[in-house]
Amino acid sequence: MLLNLERLDLLIAHYVAGCLPEPAHILVGSHLEMQPSSGRLADSLDHLAGETLDATMPLALSSRDERLQTIFASRPRIDAPSLMADRRDPRLPRFLNAYAGRRLDDVPWKMKLPGLRQHVIEKSSGMEASLLWARPGRALPHHRHRGLELTLVLQGAFEDHRGAFGQGDVSVADETIVHRPVATNDSPCLCFSVLLAPIALSGPTFRIVADILGV
Ligand code: ZN
Repeated sequence: MLLNLERLDLLIAHYVAGCLPEPAHILVGSHLEMQPSSGRLADSLDHLAGETLDATMPLALSSRDERLQTIFASRPRIDAPSLMADRRDPRLPRFLNAYAGRRLDDVPWKMKLPGLRQHVIEKSSGMEASLLWARPGRALPHHRHRGLELTLVLQGAFEDHRGAFGQGDVSVADETIVHRPVATNDSPCLCFSVLLAPIALSGPTFRIVADILGV
């Protein structure tokens, strides 16, 4: 089983290759802004990819016109965030700020569970991107995953059986992970979360009920 850091390195490689879905692209881009060491890894991979491309013999492109049409029809990625001054929030990475389109003080939170708030930025079949806020010490119900769950810590910290995740860290959870994240006791925990498939609750019923109540 891959360690979280190995999963994150793979994710960064996919980011450099430009093949992540947009919310995951935003999450990894935000992580690179917050963690200089990961930013350097992305730069190295980018450089390596450029050198490999330079050393590759050119091939004639088949279906050139159709490919060009597909490229021109695709939605542009948010690579150069621009935002109205009154929506800029220095507490958020630029990538995420441009994607969320608002300051933290203006987020229309909804209570998901006692002590746990959520703001869904974008949702479609098989994907959900949201901001999550948990009060200090709040546990999320024990759950497993049917797909990929990416969580970037923006403020505060949380921990599970894999260890602690602090500001700028990314948790990469998939079908092989069953966990119960808990916000640390010292401050609230604010995260940007991207689910690439629905997650399902699991574990002993009493623990799930206790976590839903926040006790
Ligand atoms: Zn999870």
